Amino acid sequence: MSDPTSKNCPSCFKEIDARASRCPFCAQRQPDAPSLYRDVPGRLAGGVCAALSLHFNWDVTLMRVLFVASLAVTGGLVLWVYAMIWFLTPFEARGRSPATKVLDALGNLFAKPATPQPETPPTGP
Ligand SMILES: [Zn+2]
Repeated sequence: MSDPTSKNCPSCFKEIDARASRCPFCAQRQPDAPSLYRDVPGRLAGGVCAALSLHFNWDVTLMRVLFVASLAVTGGLVLWVYAMIWFLTPFEARGRSPATKVLDALGNLFAKPATPQPETPPTGP
């Protein structure tokens, strides 16, 4: 049995963190890695820029510069895109996004309550 907190990179076969989405040795993207999540090293605010930079293997500073520049160009429209990505992206690699949590909460709210057990009919005359 291997340590559940680590796994072997399928490309270079070195032992890496089980949650790593990219191998630190050969930089190969891990096949079981989630596409996008926000709990990544170097996150500042919502973690969207850091998550996107990890996903596209870009420099996080470049991503932030592009984000701020597009804020100025689009007059803040990109802020909605940021919020949308934040809403749809889980915080943890194996976690659920805020959108999923809201949908689950709404589902529970409108779910039918469990049908009450029918009372046993009185016996006797
Ligand atoms: Zn590797």
